[in-house]
Amino acid sequence: MRTVAVLGGGIGGLAASYYLCKNPQVTKVVLLEFSSRFGGWVWSSRRSDGTVFELGPRGIRPAGAVGRNTLNMVEELGLGTEILPVPFSHVASKNRFLYVKGKLHRMPSGISGLLRTVPPFSRPLLFSIATEILVKKGTNDDESIHSFVSRRLGKEHRGSLTLGMLLGSGPTPTVSAGPLAQRSIKESWAQWSLKRGMESLPESLSDFLQRSGKVELHRDAAVRQINPSAAGWTVQLEDGVVSADHIISALPAKALSSVLPSCCRPLVQQLQDISAVTVAVVNLEYEGGILPVTGFGHLVPSSEDKGLLGVVYDSIPFPQHNRADGPTTRLTVMMGGAWFQEAFGPPESVTAESLLLRATGAVCSHLGVSAAPSWSRVTLHRDCIPQYQLGHHQRVESLRSFVKDNNLSLSLTGSSFDGVSVNDVIFSGRTAVDQLLGGGV
Ligand SMILES: Cc1cc2nc3c(=O)[nH]c(=O)nc-3n(C[C@H](O)[C@H](O)[C@H](O)COP(=O)(O)OP(=O)(O)OC[C@H]3O[C@@H](n4cnc5c(N)ncnc54)[C@H](O)[C@@H]3O)c2cc1C
Repeated sequence: MRTVAVLGGGIGGLAASYYLCKNPQVTKVVLLEFSSRFGGWVWSSRRSDGTVFELGPRGIRPAGAVGRNTLNMVEELGLGTEILPVPFSHVASKNRFLYVKGKLHRMPSGISGLLRTVPPFSRPLLFSIATEILVKKGTNDDESIHSFVSRRLGKEHRGSLTLGMLLGSGPTPTVSAGPLAQRSIKESWAQWSLKRGMESLPESLSDFLQRSGKVELHRDAAVRQINPSAAGWTVQLEDGVVSADHIISALPAKALSSVLPSCCRPLVQQLQDISAVTVAVVNLEYEGGILPVTGFGHLVPSSEDKGLLGVVYDSIPFPQHNRADGPTTRLTVMMGGAWFQEAFGPPESVTAESLLLRATGAVCSHLGVSAAPSWSRVTLHRDCIPQYQLGHHQRVESLRSFVKDNNLSLSLTGSSFDGVSVNDVIFSGRTAVDQLLGGGV
């Protein structure tokens, strides 16, 4: 394998390039990113006074093989000293709330909490879980996440699945734990971030790739079309052409569908069927400690408010990201998801002012905070989280079978296919490389 082109410089494309770069069989990697920065949705806003706000992911789970895999990568990149761990004993791990019927309700934890009927639930959670274990699997081979969670936890839980999906899922391969992952187990971490924010991870990855001398990194390089050639592929950019023996696509499914050649036409509709939802992220900073409760944050079921997904109390798990000179509270209000259009109308006509008003209104009514925030930032993430609808896994299998049956030297990776959490996306990049070049996890 001489040259591999990687399409898309989000965390998925960066991870795939990283694993390619470490493999001696690969001579050259060309990473092509549409925008002017690498990292995709992994995006931190850093103020000059040291405050960090996350516009995308804010916490990564260390658990499981995919969690260990990311920690091994973090360690290899030399980011181990930057880690901000949050153990299970931390209040942010213990306290999570639901906003139901105008009140915050702590979600039960531990066995006694599971045995009692705790408001606002209509029956003990253990009952729901036992029913899930005893109840026959749905008749569909591939139940939608929505129906699975509704069946499992009762309909009170059905809201905010967009946030729920971020909690991670997916395969359970074997990955050995390096020293950092071992530390996470010993210290019982529930999640972690990085001192300068999550964006340090894509930044370190792109530095690593740059230093390797093996990877050409291109920003502002929108892929327009890919075409098979005698030697593999040609990748058409706005202002040039790249030749490659193999392509790893880490593009969102819809973006990939629009660059495929005519021989891949059967893939187009299937890729377009992998839809993604729009989320408005409103970062807020308040002066002083303003929260009436302490914990990770609260979720808002769609039955309560279709527009609001939840409020994350960022200052509680990661006070290190607060402004240094005095007590402040950082919150993130997440809005939209599957109900974006219904709640706010078409994304192109929603204004930042209206989203800010809605977010501060929620903070006021849910948390009793009537003070205005001292700082705010509104970001509209269009089509940012793929929704795995009924039949997703069969669809992905069928896409990959087409590629295989037609001997296309193409790998599909990223959040559109194998899980949306950062861990899943990184692991998807690794799996694509392992399958291309051999090598085990
Ligand atoms: C608001 C939010 C909060 C989240 N919170 C968490 C969390 O707390 N924990 C967690 O684990 N996960 C979280 N996630 C999920 C996780 O961040 C994403 O699933 C993951 O970052 C997606 O990575 P990706 O590389 O697959 O896709 P992307 O980040 O979408 O990257 C794809 C890249 O392809 C580029 N591209 C598109 N078209 C072209 C083209 N034609 N040519 C070249 N390049 C192109 C794009 O510019 C982009 O950089 C969150 C996501 C969001 C949006």
